[in-house]
Amino acid sequence: MTEAFLMAMPVINQIENQGHQAFYVGGCVRDLLLDRPIGDIDIATSASPAFIQQIFSKVIPVGIEHGTVIVRHHHQSYEVTTFRIDGDYTDQRHPDSVEFIDQIDKDLERRDFTINALAMNKDGVITDLFDGQGDLQAKLIRTVGDGYERFTEDPLRMIRALRFTSQLGFTIHRQTLTDIKKVKPAIEGLAIERITNEFTKLFAGEYLPIGIAYLKDTEIYKHLPIFADFPEIICSLPNALKPLHSFGEVIALLHVIEPRVSVAQWIKEWKCSNKTKQEAAQLVNALEQYKRDGLNQWMIYQLSESYYGGLNRLINIFNPNEPITVDALEQIAHRLPIQSKQELAINGNDLINLFPNRQKGRWLQISINQIEKEVVSGRLKNTKYDIKEWIQWSPPETN
Ligand code: ATP
Ligand code: MG
Repeated sequence: MTEAFLMAMPVINQIENQGHQAFYVGGCVRDLLLDRPIGDIDIATSASPAFIQQIFSKVIPVGIEHGTVIVRHHHQSYEVTTFRIDGDYTDQRHPDSVEFIDQIDKDLERRDFTINALAMNKDGVITDLFDGQGDLQAKLIRTVGDGYERFTEDPLRMIRALRFTSQLGFTIHRQTLTDIKKVKPAIEGLAIERITNEFTKLFAGEYLPIGIAYLKDTEIYKHLPIFADFPEIICSLPNALKPLHSFGEVIALLHVIEPRVSVAQWIKEWKCSNKTKQEAAQLVNALEQYKRDGLNQWMIYQLSESYYGGLNRLINIFNPNEPITVDALEQIAHRLPIQSKQELAINGNDLINLFPNRQKGRWLQISINQIEKEVVSGRLKNTKYDIKEWIQWSPPETN
């Protein structure tokens, strides 16, 4: 067991000391057996959410009605979920009802894939009712139970299957793949946010080309917003595709591939956050400048530092033969004459004083922006003297 599991053990012990069962469950057990980095540690228990709230001091009730609370322990968060059986998924989002139970067996049965239906107790003993360990060995994604039923019950599982192929490099079991091809139109009824979430992980997968190959083979994309109207986007994905770390990066990529779909349209139809929108817009701006002029100071100046990694990944996808590095971007950033408008040697008031006969107006902003671009690009020295000199020769237009 790794550090992360040991850190969570006091939570398991505490539940057991109170007379209940508790297991590590799901993705963390899978990733431990695969020797992959572990995301979150999830715990399944026979104790009710109310009971968990009583026995721990810091509990956040994130989804009590579905049996989930977050227990905070030593600054870590653990999702603790009561063993349960799910009712129908009529809203395509959550089961209508859940029934809490006191044995883990039926809880494992409701899980999507055999490799995700593993539980482990605190001594490292594994409960594996559906040969998930065999499928881990064989690198197979296979539904727990009948695929047709399980995908009909929650169509998101089909997207999750693709997501896991991309993360793990696994193959989808033949029958499971057949079932996906039958049930896939049901994807159209899903809440898009759930799909966006899985797609973000799909595009970040280490084995992304495998995930994309399944996307093409299953034609799942024909049931997704935008891709349904522009199916050629999927076919035009560059061969040198490498994992992207956020959905903002994904949207930037897809917009450059198909400029008829704006960033705003992706954001709207895939219900993304404002942060994703800003990120995609900045990346597209930088990429377009890169295509025109290569790396330059103005594009780096406009880009938030937190997006250097994303820009680097995207440039290298489009130009695999001339890869650049984040280091190259940082070096340009360090050499910038100014970091922001505030550092310009003159401001709006100075300009008004230089042109006392003019009315305040749009010319002011336009002029400041021009000066900013000249200074950032290194064509104009950032001193009052040089800027005044420059402006005599390029006086702002009036309007
Ligand atoms: P990650 O490492 O990306 O978090 P994960 O396997 O933990 O992968 P989660 O989405 O966090 O995936 O879900 C946790 C567990 O809950 C899964 O391993 C699976 O057992 C179960 N699960 C999640 N979503 C579904 C679903 N739609 N249908 C059935 N079981 C699900
Ligand atoms: Mg998880």
